[in-house]
Amino acid sequence: MASNEKVIIIGAGVSGLVLAQILRQGGVPYEVYDRDDGTHWQGWAISLDKCLQSLYPLLPPDIQDPAQASPNYHSSKPDGFWVVNAVTHESLGVTENAPRGHPDNMIHANRDHFRKIFMQNVKVQFGKTFQKYEESGDGSLDVFFTDGTSTKGTVLVGSDGSSSKVRQQLLNGFKAAPSRYTSILGSVTVDIDLSAKLLGESNSGLLVADKDQKANCLVLDHNKDGTDLFCWVLAYKVAEYEKEHMWARMASPEELFEKAKERTAHWPDFMRETVKRTGPEGMYRPFRLLETVLEKDELPRGRVTLLGDAMHSMLPFRGMGANTGISGACLLGKSLLDGLKQDTSVDDILRAYEREWIPKSREVVLESRAAGAGDENADLSGGRIENGGP
Ligand SMILES: Cc1cc2nc3c(=O)[nH]c(=O)nc-3n(C[C@H](O)[C@H](O)[C@H](O)COP(=O)(O)OP(=O)(O)OC[C@H]3O[C@@H](n4cnc5c(N)ncnc54)[C@H](O)[C@@H]3O)c2cc1C
Repeated sequence: MASNEKVIIIGAGVSGLVLAQILRQGGVPYEVYDRDDGTHWQGWAISLDKCLQSLYPLLPPDIQDPAQASPNYHSSKPDGFWVVNAVTHESLGVTENAPRGHPDNMIHANRDHFRKIFMQNVKVQFGKTFQKYEESGDGSLDVFFTDGTSTKGTVLVGSDGSSSKVRQQLLNGFKAAPSRYTSILGSVTVDIDLSAKLLGESNSGLLVADKDQKANCLVLDHNKDGTDLFCWVLAYKVAEYEKEHMWARMASPEELFEKAKERTAHWPDFMRETVKRTGPEGMYRPFRLLETVLEKDELPRGRVTLLGDAMHSMLPFRGMGANTGISGACLLGKSLLDGLKQDTSVDDILRAYEREWIPKSREVVLESRAAGAGDENADLSGGRIENGGP
């Protein structure tokens, strides 16, 4: 790989941004494009743990520690969850967290806060929607955007999420499969008493196991006035899931709110109270949970590859999507930097990355699916409960 090779990254989610940081640190030319204007709410809480050991050594020293994204950073309280059986109202345990800097540490934070840290000193060109790429025989490629502009590079990374357009072109129209789950989601600011009940003995919030549905209710921010901002997601499965999903897409905030109350009517009082306080005004437009299971362990060879949800979107029941995306970014980033030093061809770098990461991430997609199939005693903590559980 020559030192003037330029990597074009489509998608400034956590995966694309981490790759950009690693390339920046290693002096590899790169450009990042995103269709958003940079102000869109991408939010929701995510937890990073499994990726941290690979991530920390590769991050440039001139950006903030990602741990600073956590709402608990300044209080030094460890992030962690409380897992509850919504049928029996029993506690299934509290996740344990290793101290900051320890390889098993977990950081739970508002996704937006993570993104802002990973965006530091990286120039993202917003308002650029990827349309198509064209590879030419001389090893270069042109990338075109819907606004009529284009750019040139030598490697293209599609980190454009679960509905990736780069993947669609690369794999002849391949689309992620819609899951059977319908999601309903809301956010609510709660007072200190209700917050204390939701946190239980944890500092980050609740994971809720139920028969045919799973949920989480997680702290996004501690407000200066003592209140806390929580977000919650309820993912449920019914026999006629296509019809249900259509309904959720068209439903008014009032209807979504009523549905959430109905589906949580058997939950503990404080959890029902949280849904009730959300009100129609706190409801968000439901999104479809998608799964990407790539069949082959390698992508069609050329100078295009995939990263993050574009390669392996999964159900959120083990909290592994971003972890896997960031670990993949570390692997790809490091492979590109090593390839530069050792003068390995781009073909060989991308092939080795895909052969390692496609099967590994496919396994995680399938494990996440299995976690959703668990009953009301399911450990949704991704195995993080050490001394608890049913
Ligand atoms: C409810 C829920 C909870 C979750 N909790 C966790 C958790 O605790 N831990 C965890 O590890 N994971 C979690 N995940 C998964 C995690 O959110 C995703 O795996 C992760 O955000 C994927 O990051 P990404 O960068 O690959 O893709 P994305 O974050 O989807 O970013 C893709 C980017 O590409 C841009 N884009 C899309 N199309 C185009 C285009 N045509 N042109 C230009 N730009 C484009 C988008 O604007 C976006 O910025 C959760 C997911 C959900 C739904």
